[in-house]
Parts: sequence; C-alpha cells; structure tokens
Amino acid sequence: MDELTWVEISRSALENNIREFRRIIGPKTLLGPCVKANAYGHGLVEAARIFLSAGADWLSVNALFEARELRCAGITAPLYVLGYIPPEGLREALDLDCRLVVFSKDHIRALAQAAQAACRQARVHIKVETGSNRMGVRLDGLVDFARFIQKQKLLEIEGLATHFANIEDTTDHSFAELQLQRFNEASGLLQSAGIPVPIRHCANSAATILFPKTHFEMVRLGIAGYGMWPSNETYVSFVKERKNNFHLAPAFTWKTRIAQLKTIPAGEFVGYGCTYKTSHKTRLAVIPVGYYDGYDRGIAGGHVLIRGRRAAIRGRICMDILMAEVTDIPGVQSGDEVVLMGRSGDECISAELFAQWAATINYEVTTRVNERIPRILV
Ligand SMILES: *Cc1c(COP(=O)(O)O)cnc(C)c1O
Repeated sequence: MDELTWVEISRSALENNIREFRRIIGPKTLLGPCVKANAYGHGLVEAARIFLSAGADWLSVNALFEARELRCAGITAPLYVLGYIPPEGLREALDLDCRLVVFSKDHIRALAQAAQAACRQARVHIKVETGSNRMGVRLDGLVDFARFIQKQKLLEIEGLATHFANIEDTTDHSFAELQLQRFNEASGLLQSAGIPVPIRHCANSAATILFPKTHFEMVRLGIAGYGMWPSNETYVSFVKERKNNFHLAPAFTWKTRIAQLKTIPAGEFVGYGCTYKTSHKTRLAVIPVGYYDGYDRGIAGGHVLIRGRRAAIRGRICMDILMAEVTDIPGVQSGDEVVLMGRSGDECISAELFAQWAATINYEVTTRVNERIPRILV
C-alpha cells in the first residue's frame, strides 16, 4: 500500500455496538443509526453496510448527498434525512425514496410540488420544537401544521421527531425531562386531533443509553454506534444508574508510518516558530501527517504510539508533517507503523484523549479526519 496514512475500521466492533443496542431497545423499536458526517468519520457506505448487516433497520443521514451515495452503493434500507434539503433537492430526495423531516409550510408546499412532479408519495416526519431552537414547529402551531400536511396530495405523516439539547453535556437531566414532557404533549395533541403518527423518535445515543422511556418507535443512535460514549457525563450517569449493562467497542484506528528518523544534538529547535528546543541529544521521528489530514494544529503536549510506546510530539503540527521524540523507544526504524489514534500494544490514544488535547469533543476528532484518507475494514 502506498498510502501515507489510513484509518482501520474494526468490523467486529461496529457489529458489537449494533447488537448491544438491539439488545437494549428490544426487537420492536426501530434502530436507525446516524451515518452522517461520513459515518462520524468511519466511512459512510462501509459503516452503513455493517450496521444493516448487524441488525439496524433504518439509516439516518443529514443531507441529500449522503442519501444519494448510499442508494448508488445499492443500499435499499429506509433512509431518514434529518437535515435540511433545499427546494431544488426535494424531487431527487423523493426519487431516492427518502423520508424527510419537515418544519415549515413553505417547505411543505415545495415538497407537495416535488411529490406531484415525481408521482410519488412523500413520507414526512414532523420536527417539533421542544427546547433546542434549531429546526422545529412549536407546540402551539403543531396541529395546524399537521392538518396543512394532510391537505396536500401525496404527503403522508409518518413520524414525529425532536432532538435533545442538553442530555450529554450534564448529569442533571431536568432539561431533557422537560423536552421529553413537551414531546409527549406534542404526541398527545396529534392523537387528540385524530392525526395518527406511527413512528415517534427523539433518542440520540445518550437518551438511548440512559432513558428507555425515550425509545418510542425508533432511536437515532449516533456516536455510540461507533463505540464512543457521548460524553463523560453520560458515562457517569450510566455507571450511577446501571439500568442496563453493555460494552461499547471503539472501531477507529488512525495510522501512518515514520518517514524519517534523525538524531539531533541538544539546543536545537524543532518545527515552525521554533517553539520547541531540545534539552538533550534527541532521536526524532518525522511523521507524514498534519493538519490537512485532520490532525489538529492546536494540539500541544500530545503523543503518538510507536512500537506500543508513547512518543511525545515535539514542536508545532505542520500542514502535512509532525515530529515526535523516540529517544527512549528502542529499535525504532524508518517505515515503522505509527498509531495516531487508537490502540497499540498496551497503550491507547482514545478519541476522548485526542479530543482533550485539541480542546474539543470526540465527535469532532473522528469526523475531522480527512475523507480522502482511506478507511480500511479489518
Ligand atoms: C446527530 C444526531 C443524532 C445522533 O446524536 P448522537 O449524540 O451522536 O447519538 C440524533 N438525532 C439528530 C437529529 C442528530 O442530528
């Protein structure tokens, strides 16, 4: 392989996670994992196929291009587009047999036109505003909005959805409880108005893990499908409650290899800005990955793994290169494998640790790894 860098994706880890969640939600609730953002960096089509073969029912994507890519790859499972599709994209979304989230009358009018042009039924899921103030219909306009949909030819209300604003960022779940209460209220309003909604869904990973009462007819599992915890707070809440017991397996290992090894004397600088000065004779590994690849330039004080040992990053991260010290690691050779994220021997750089170095969250670090870098199933 002539690649400078690649990501290994563990098929068995992804399968494990989906099976675990199937066990937690039971056989009747639909499992609709999110494969947006290149499957959180894991590779859209590959992850989608594995999820489906391991027992997922639906797939959730953010945008039309993702739905297109999945259909082009021959995936026939139901697709739910949870993000915005501009009016020009609606016809194609229907041709691709997508389920769409809806939240405005203008959007409904455009969709009704597209459905007529396509001669297709459009199955829609009403997004109800319960507290995040992203997209959504407020409760006081909900029944009117649903009736408006019912009046359109070829439109069918299939679902009711909302999204939690503050469930993984805290161990205090009172705001999530309030949102759930509003969601139940929304469901009740439609029911009282005689408007049936077969599929209600609001659960992201944290809700799926912590609160079975949020499962309804479908869960939109995200990050946990990839074996990562939504946050430390979610983990702490889970451990405190222990309502269910399960094991998440991370699937992502980002690798490269050493381009050059060199020994330099004490008192020399390493990299741009001369921010690092050697205090002793230093053996340096030059590693052909940088911020273009998604290795955050803000990282200071991080390390990579070589031969199962930590090698501290020295100097700034460059566009395509970073340098690490291997003075104390015996036997290192040019061409040796380097683990940038993931496990090597007894050492592990988790997405969470990497995120801590970069002052961000695990979600961002795996999704940011450049899409051009091959994802290889192992
Ligand atoms: C991304 C997303 C999810 C999944 O969130 P996780 O925290 O990754 O589980 C669920 N619902 C919506 C609307 C989303 O955008």
